[in-house]
Amino acid sequence: ALRLAALRREVNEVLAPLRLSRADLEKVQALMREEMERGLGKETNATASVRMLPTYVSHTPDGTERGDFLALDLGGTNFRVLVVRVTEEGITMASEIYVIPVSIMQGTGEALFDHIIDCIIDFQTKQNLVTDMLPLGFTFSFPCQQMGLDKALLLTWTKGFSASGCVGQDVVQLLRDAARRMQVVALVNDTVGTMMACGYDDPKCEIGLIVGTGTNACYMEEMRNMGTVEGDQGRMCINMEWGAFGDNGCLDHLFTHFDQVVDQSTINPGKQRFEKLISGMYLGEIVRQILMAMTEKHLLFQGKLSSKLQTKNIFQTKFLSTIELSNGLALRQIQAILNELEIEASFEDSVLLREVCQTVSLRAAQLCAAGLAAVVEKMRENQGLEQLSVTVGVDGTLYKLHPCFSTNLQNTLKDLAPNCNVSFMPSEDGSGKGAALVAAVASRAA
Ligand code: ADP
Repeated sequence: ALRLAALRREVNEVLAPLRLSRADLEKVQALMREEMERGLGKETNATASVRMLPTYVSHTPDGTERGDFLALDLGGTNFRVLVVRVTEEGITMASEIYVIPVSIMQGTGEALFDHIIDCIIDFQTKQNLVTDMLPLGFTFSFPCQQMGLDKALLLTWTKGFSASGCVGQDVVQLLRDAARRMQVVALVNDTVGTMMACGYDDPKCEIGLIVGTGTNACYMEEMRNMGTVEGDQGRMCINMEWGAFGDNGCLDHLFTHFDQVVDQSTINPGKQRFEKLISGMYLGEIVRQILMAMTEKHLLFQGKLSSKLQTKNIFQTKFLSTIELSNGLALRQIQAILNELEIEASFEDSVLLREVCQTVSLRAAQLCAAGLAAVVEKMRENQGLEQLSVTVGVDGTLYKLHPCFSTNLQNTLKDLAPNCNVSFMPSEDGSGKGAALVAAVASRAA
């Protein structure tokens, strides 16, 4: 029993820095709010870690959008080409997934955009698209300084992309240069696409959230609060780029040793700090770092470190889902994962492994909630309401497939923003649908 108590104490010591108190979360919420204000201000924008980028989307859908559109979705694991038909009866679409090899993600911009065009041509052939001049909406999920719906300078790559010659360039122009006959009418961030797609079904949807490879959010802001765009009338959707929250050091107190090691092993160390605590690209790696530390302390696996476990990215974020789903006695699936990693584990090891996963995914959901709490509270104040009722359109595999993430997110948000009644609406094919809806509005205005 003594040995057990000592073990527990040591485990708690390792995990304590990953456990956030209510006060920690309130502080994150307050910091996010501060960064949002700085990002919105004309003079302060340049110093904010949350860039609060204008999107030139001024309305959510009203149901009168119509037409046939091509849509591209670039910015995560998969590149997709879609044809989207928006009619009175609703939205139908067809799509193909194309792989972007790492050599192209991290090669030249020219090769990347040529590859994209090849995929579009392949898609048009497969779908027998006779009209090759459909208006095109481009979901491009990287931070861009937009000057209009169809003009967007890439600020920086994220999520493993680093194609040369693109940063500082107009992404729409790069696409047009690669194929002159392309009628690109709108560039859309994936958060905006998700908000628009859900907004088509629910008029209260004025927030978009992504928790997949990366994380980001957008929401409808009042023009009068935006110092960075001309005009005071009406509203505009703001792409927060909240993945970069903390890049100015304001969240440093939350970063554990494990988070720092993971950050240092990425192609963008010191960047996207908030994202690296939350999203699918990183959670598995954080867990792996903790497991290695615990094994070295002889708290796990009898102190035996398999060489597999020392391999970067071997512990996938989807393992967290499997592991957290398995309950008390049915730890068989955990065993299967551990066998894969060439680890011999006892029952106690499996239970501790699950605790590590729970700790990491709970922290991610809570941080995400603290960010959202800042957003909904700001929207409530903007509208001068005692109580705000709003819907968040959500996309991303981590949000959708993790067994506890969405529940933890919603519970924490309720706690941090009690005056906001927030519903969550998972989006179906949000990026494609959303890009088409934005393109529909754009081609109507044109
Ligand atoms: P993207 O955000 O790139 O468009 P996704 O939304 O599909 O793509 O998210 C991909 C991320 O989801 C990957 O980082 C992957 O680790 C993670 N993921 C995949 N399957 C699961 C799962 N079952 N549970 C939790 N995360 C998962």
